Amino acid sequence: MKILKNVFELNKAIKNYKNVGFVPTMGGIHKGHESLIKISQKNNKETIVSIFVNPTQFNQKKDFRNYPRNIRKDISILKKLKINYLFLPEVNEIYKNKMKNFKLTKSDKILCAKYRKGHFEGVLNVMNRLLSIVKSKYVFMGEKDFQQYILVKRILGKKHKVKIVGCPTIRERNKIALSTRNKLLKKSSINIASKIAIKLDKLKRISKTNKSLDLSKYKDKLENKFKIKIDYLEFRDEKKMKLDNFKSKYRLFIAYHINGVRLIDNF
Ligand code: AMP
Repeated sequence: MKILKNVFELNKAIKNYKNVGFVPTMGGIHKGHESLIKISQKNNKETIVSIFVNPTQFNQKKDFRNYPRNIRKDISILKKLKINYLFLPEVNEIYKNKMKNFKLTKSDKILCAKYRKGHFEGVLNVMNRLLSIVKSKYVFMGEKDFQQYILVKRILGKKHKVKIVGCPTIRERNKIALSTRNKLLKKSSINIASKIAIKLDKLKRISKTNKSLDLSKYKDKLENKFKIKIDYLEFRDEKKMKLDNFKSKYRLFIAYHINGVRLIDNF
């Protein structure tokens, strides 16, 4: 596997490939990332994985510093997956040029955009830079971060003439969605996160026949029972992300804080 540290090396490595699939990550590679990689490998001659912990999408310096990193382990997993090219740039390499900043519209300021000010502006900024460097035909992103996937698809898909492919959320046996941040959880928090995931999965199923569920009641119950702080617990449709729109495909979105770690999921 070639580790490409800058744009020059990357261009040189991939100039002869027509169909390139791209899987951007922040590392701490887990089975969720692996599933995106495998989907890309199935559909493209070559797959490029990037590992870049993007400082501009963290609203707290401490969160950025504490983000789990294990590049040696990541490299060994990627080698096993037969990845030929890992793009592993430094911050200066990605941010060396001046580029357009993105602003969210009022209607976009929901869910994580409401509770993590500047987060998606940072995500769009880095994705805009990565897409203009990698110039792939396809990008594979997880539905685990559904709002991120939708925003990148809508705002950057056309601009970069790239197809953004949403891939299903991979879960542990205990129903917790795999996430690099799970490494920050204590065992007791993992048990609670599992119970919450099982409950919400059930709630989503119940919602198919009962549309008048009082989510604020469930929110209070979960907060009191598990001593967590929930930022949001909302049904929104997949296309327009409108609240309580059950007419088209919809999801149950949650973000909560447990023992100082913020987790997001959707069902
Ligand atoms: P991250 O490294 O957390 O920025 O994630 C990189 C990509 O992997 C994003 O597109 C995520 O949505 C996706 N991803 C993270 N966790 C999962 C998961 N459990 N299942 C599927 N995709 C995931």
